Amino acid sequence: MNILILGSGGREHSLAWAIQQNPKCDRLIVAPGNAGIEAMCEVAALDIEDGAAVAEFCHENTVDFVVIGPEAPLAAGVADRLREAGILCFGPSAQAARLEASKKFTKQVCDAAQIPTAGWASFTSAAPAREYIEAVGAPKVIKADGLAAGKGVVVAMDEAAALAAIDDVFSGAFGEAGAEVVIEDFMTGEEASYFVLCDGENILPLGTAQDHKRVGEGDTGPNTGGMGAYSPAPIMDDAVTRKALEEIVKPTVAEMARRGTPYQGVLYAGLMIEDGEPALVEYNARFGDPECQVLMMRLGAQVLDLLLACAEGRLAEAQVNWADDHAMTVVLATEGYPGSYAKGSVIGGLDALPETSTQMVFHAGTTAKGGKVTATGGRVLNATARGATLAEARDRAYALAEAVDWPEGFYRRDIGWRAL
Ligand code: ATP
Repeated sequence: MNILILGSGGREHSLAWAIQQNPKCDRLIVAPGNAGIEAMCEVAALDIEDGAAVAEFCHENTVDFVVIGPEAPLAAGVADRLREAGILCFGPSAQAARLEASKKFTKQVCDAAQIPTAGWASFTSAAPAREYIEAVGAPKVIKADGLAAGKGVVVAMDEAAALAAIDDVFSGAFGEAGAEVVIEDFMTGEEASYFVLCDGENILPLGTAQDHKRVGEGDTGPNTGGMGAYSPAPIMDDAVTRKALEEIVKPTVAEMARRGTPYQGVLYAGLMIEDGEPALVEYNARFGDPECQVLMMRLGAQVLDLLLACAEGRLAEAQVNWADDHAMTVVLATEGYPGSYAKGSVIGGLDALPETSTQMVFHAGTTAKGGKVTATGGRVLNATARGATLAEARDRAYALAEAVDWPEGFYRRDIGWRAL
């Protein structure tokens, strides 16, 4: 079959890598892709948030199946347009993707379905939000309601920080995403990610992961899109995983179906776990980046069968063949990230790297020009590996990272420290 993947990050490179290994995949196109993706399959320049343009491209290229990677096309209704055009698609409708696109919506779903999560309040202007903080104090977590690429959340440990964050949300800096503020009670514990596939009704657990958001070693410094990840997450033992499924994911999926907006796609639950009790921090309507890379490294070719079963409503009969293994990915970023950084530095040493079922460097912000690979983003490469133990996966991932010849890049040397 002919398959189109939308996106250009490490997430999409790892999806493409896994899907291409499946014999059902005859032709693979990624739009817009990156240098790593371009080296393995076709890429196409396409406005991936324009559902009509994507549908037209699919008809012209006899695409049988579309996999949507990032959140923006989901929120823009690309999955809806494709289904209307009769094209099989992996990814939730815009209404279902509100679980990621509106934090208030998710809180309302949690209340309706009695899902464990932080207490909350929401406001559409600064004055009452400020009054609320003055009345209840800190710590609180201040969130712009809409999509803000991870920049719309402030964990405010004192009142002054909370008030400043409220003003920030309403400053206009977040556009429509800042039309409303959600203020949450502060939760303590350890964070982990839980991934399930859902076909609107049936749920298939895919796995767990943990990532490192801070740029600096020891989890210090400013937040990033993620500097590394590993799977499985040791804190997600059988008991915690069962609770996350029974008390959080299942009631959410049932509530979405009850509202007439069934959830179809991957549902990524960000959890806070304390004393063996998981609570929901957030939902994402797509795979995480870089968590996807470690999941794909562990799942391999079967991913295509699972995504197809999900899109076709056949998850009740699907199952995941898990090996008892571990994976780690280490993000190589441009010096200066997540602040300002230079673009266009040349990355060497990539051709000599192994590309096997247990070791892969997935590309994110890269471009191929004149036979050279250059860095065009903040997060640029994902050195990813699998092993019988997490320590083995780590050693293999770091061996890849070290072999990359890129003086303008950097990476954290302590990914997985908590688990190791
Ligand atoms: P991202 O894009 O990084 O997933 P986001 O913008 O969707 O983030 P959240 O995941 O809701 O926002 O919050 C980002 C981070 O803030 C969480 O990973 C967590 O560390 C922290 N956080 C959010 N809500 C709470 C809370 N109620 N209590 C404690 N920490 C929280």
